Amino acid sequence: MQTKTFAILGGGICGLSTAIALRNIGIRAEVYESAPQFRPLGAGLLLAANAMRSFQKIGIAEKIAARGRLLPRFFIFDDRGKVITAADATAIGKKYGLHNFAIHRADLHEALAAELDPAQLHTGKRATGFSKNGARTVVQFEDGSTIETDYLLAAEGIHSAIRRQLLPDAGPRYAGYTCWRAVVDAGPVSQDFASETWGAAGRFGIVPLAGNRIYWFAVVNAPQNDRAMRDFRVADLQRLFGKFHAPVSQILARTRDEDLIWNDIIDLQPLPRFAFGNILLLGDAAHATTPNMGQGACQAIEDAAILADELVKSQDPEAAFAAFEKRRLKRTRFIVENSWSLGKVAQWEKPLLVFLRNNLLRLVPERLNERQLRAVLTTDF
Ligand SMILES: Cc1cc2nc3c(=O)[nH]c(=O)nc-3n(C[C@H](O)[C@H](O)[C@H](O)COP(=O)(O)OP(=O)(O)OC[C@H]3O[C@@H](n4cnc5c(N)ncnc54)[C@H](O)[C@@H]3O)c2cc1C
Repeated sequence: MQTKTFAILGGGICGLSTAIALRNIGIRAEVYESAPQFRPLGAGLLLAANAMRSFQKIGIAEKIAARGRLLPRFFIFDDRGKVITAADATAIGKKYGLHNFAIHRADLHEALAAELDPAQLHTGKRATGFSKNGARTVVQFEDGSTIETDYLLAAEGIHSAIRRQLLPDAGPRYAGYTCWRAVVDAGPVSQDFASETWGAAGRFGIVPLAGNRIYWFAVVNAPQNDRAMRDFRVADLQRLFGKFHAPVSQILARTRDEDLIWNDIIDLQPLPRFAFGNILLLGDAAHATTPNMGQGACQAIEDAAILADELVKSQDPEAAFAAFEKRRLKRTRFIVENSWSLGKVAQWEKPLLVFLRNNLLRLVPERLNERQLRAVLTTDF
């Protein structure tokens, strides 16, 4: 019987996946989410095979797959549509019986929330900090209320208030590029693979989703929080990307200004630790990464599966948190650092460098690409 209390801050992909994983091992966690309600938000998301394997461990892979779109192949093109690299995860998928999927963020969120008891999801609760009452942790919320808990799981994203208090020097860093996203009707766009197109103007990604929709993203170098970028409309993106190969311009033409989602790309420099006694940092609060490898949410879902694994192995949750940290520090550092470096190279804009990069990448042997893919997609469970 559960006698100790667990609280999760943040009802995002990490918080909800963790609550499900804990529920499966007999631990009920209360989830405190800052948004006033759970609303369908966001664009698309790649759920790579490692995320699907984690969902399998949590017992919900089939439900998630049913809402997603199978995506075994990924291409990088130059701006004329010539292949730079091609990755095929079919062999890895066959080996593990799992594949890469793409999903609408809102569909994923809805599927996760539906797994939980609505009474354990508390909305309108923005955590501002914590204090200690003996061994227990007291969380303060913006509305003046507090909760007291034995174990606190901080999964409130890259701007985590709990991390700010524990590690005041560890703030987000700007990657140097900014991103627009939207979901549109697929029209005649191929539904078999995801792609990125790398040109001197920037990068344009296309990801098929279930329901004959596609998710696209456009990335350009820019100063942080730039007013001109914030005011960008579809016509401005057409100006930058309109000369890219088909169907880039056609996809933009099907996008409405009001559907654009804009973010500067930020991450967290790898932290030295995630576990602080009976408080644990999870998901983006612990290891936010740039989206260049499509692994931020995947790592957050791995966190959920591995935390439950460690809690089953140990009678003492604090020991489980420490064991979790040991398993997660190196793996998440690998993702954050590789994604950061990949983003730098992908965002080169000098035409000569772009030409050299594209031609050098074409020379990388397929088995090297596959080895790198395997390192990302293979979990330790
Ligand atoms: C442009 C872009 C594209 C991406 N594409 C991919 C991809 O293809 N694949 C992939 O795996 N990842 C991708 N990611 C990364 C992915 O979105 C994140 O890694 C993932 O959402 C992290 O989940 P999380 O639950 O840890 O954090 P979040 O998603 O940030 O969720 C945190 C939750 O906590 C709530 N919250 C915030 N502050 C507080 C507070 N103080 N108190 C209580 N609640 C709070 C928020 O409202 C939110 O619900 C992308 C990111 C970006 C920016």
